[in-house]
Amino acid sequence: MSSTRTSIAPMATDLQVAVRKVASINPATGDVLREIDCAADAQVQQAVARARSAQRQWAARDVGARIEILKQFQRTLQDMKTEVARLITREAGKPYVEALLTEVLVVLDATRFLVENARSFLRDQPIPHGSLAMKTKAGRLVREPRGVIGIISPWNYPLSIPAVETLAALVTGNAVVLKPSEFTSLIALEFESMLRAAGVPEAIFQVLPGDGATGAALLESEINKLVFTGSVPTGKRIAQACAKRLLPVLLELGGKDPMLVLDDADLNVASSAAVWGAFVNAGQACLSVERCYVHRSLYPRFLEACTTKARKLRVGNGLDSEIDIGPMIHERQLRIVESQVEDAKAMGARVLTGGTPLPELGPNFYAPTVLADVTPQMQIIQQETFGPVLPIAPFDTDAQAIQLANDSEFGLAASVFTRNTPRGEAIARKLAAGTVMVNDVISCFGISEAPHGGIKASGIGRAHGRQGMEEMVRLKYLDVDRMPRTKKLWWYGYGESFARHMEAFVDFQFARGMGRRIKGGLQSVGVVGGKKL
Ligand code: NAD
Repeated sequence: MSSTRTSIAPMATDLQVAVRKVASINPATGDVLREIDCAADAQVQQAVARARSAQRQWAARDVGARIEILKQFQRTLQDMKTEVARLITREAGKPYVEALLTEVLVVLDATRFLVENARSFLRDQPIPHGSLAMKTKAGRLVREPRGVIGIISPWNYPLSIPAVETLAALVTGNAVVLKPSEFTSLIALEFESMLRAAGVPEAIFQVLPGDGATGAALLESEINKLVFTGSVPTGKRIAQACAKRLLPVLLELGGKDPMLVLDDADLNVASSAAVWGAFVNAGQACLSVERCYVHRSLYPRFLEACTTKARKLRVGNGLDSEIDIGPMIHERQLRIVESQVEDAKAMGARVLTGGTPLPELGPNFYAPTVLADVTPQMQIIQQETFGPVLPIAPFDTDAQAIQLANDSEFGLAASVFTRNTPRGEAIARKLAAGTVMVNDVISCFGISEAPHGGIKASGIGRAHGRQGMEEMVRLKYLDVDRMPRTKKLWWYGYGESFARHMEAFVDFQFARGMGRRIKGGLQSVGVVGGKKL
């Protein structure tokens, strides 16, 4: 069985109706785990309609009731952590321990964050007024659920990405309809059954397995916001479709994250970080280290350290606890990596280790690859690779390192390695990215309080943390006048005298010099008498 994974071609179930199917396939073995019908357009519309009609009741519950459900879900996930992590490994290929840490643990902790913070987040927020004219009013921000949130998610973090977004949407009172990646339907369905068991009503969280067309149908449905995580090309198509109907959208897209190794960095620490950052999840992480720039004084030793460490990595089936790197998700993704590496080689990059597929392990395995002397013109530096490749280039000055790092259409995350933390922080502030880590890579995704998202082509908006909850609500500004029996000064009654008094009132607040302000204040006092109220 070939493990080339694309949606299975439409299969006619009867003469009239052709049901599209997607296949969940173990990328390590090629075994078909299950074939699943894609949700048809009508099913998508029905699911969203059901969600819409149930959502108000869900939102009307006290937030404490929704928090209790999240706590129950957390307990279930903790109890089932091993089975869930193994299912992720079977369906997405990553080593079991990565599934446990970067998916299950991330979701458990994100749930902890939401449980601890949802109540205060949803509490009305007073907005004190600074303007003198508005002192008699009390304002506050009210956060209301948007209604039905549509979520379209990728395969590379098939639990943690949709789960963190879903839980933030649910606890803030929304219903959710999730279209998972066609490659990882099973883990999404498992997530659905865990939430059901925890007490989330059927209509409030629904998973619609399917392909891109199913996603497009969700986009056209009566959802109130779309949360999309995926590639830049799909994200652009989605943004255009959303723009046509002014549908709010959160876009979490691709990255080409740079890592800077300054001249004072700890070579051993930085090379270990680069190797893990480039090869974790076989390089298929949006936050992967995709470009590594190293100060020339460390460059030869850094190359040697990375090469030695990469050669020690064991590639194989992620269910084997003795392996470090699993398969890529499908052969198409592997071919992209292969062609970028070939392009780099043709343009003068040196392959220090790897640089080839590993067909003896299966069609989806690629050797961890270290490339030296990469240049800005190469595809491997310009395009997202999303595979186990660590391209490295030297730099001479901090300014040059910053320029190289920022020379990209992407801006998801970046990292700086140095023994001098203030220096690292100063450079971090100059890097064009949604997140910059000093002396670590990628782990920001596991900090539930930290917002996650990019700038430039890497996306719009933020998931995770308070900002992630903020994406799920509509802001309503509510203002209450404390003097309900009084007509307001600025209502009709215009005339010469009124204009003079208003000028005085403006002077009272903003004129330069205390004398003019006091004069303005005195003149404005008579305003009520001067105006026909
Ligand atoms: P993809 O864009 O191919 O697919 C993502 C989702 O969109 C899938 O569910 C797919 O079925 C759906 N889709 C495809 N065409 C569609 C259409 N026309 N309308 C609606 N939905 C459609 O991405 P992928 O290969 O699944 O994921 C890998 C990409 O995701 C990488 O670029 C990676 O960097 C990015 N990613 C970003 C983040 C982040 O947080 N910024 C996280 C993970 C992955």
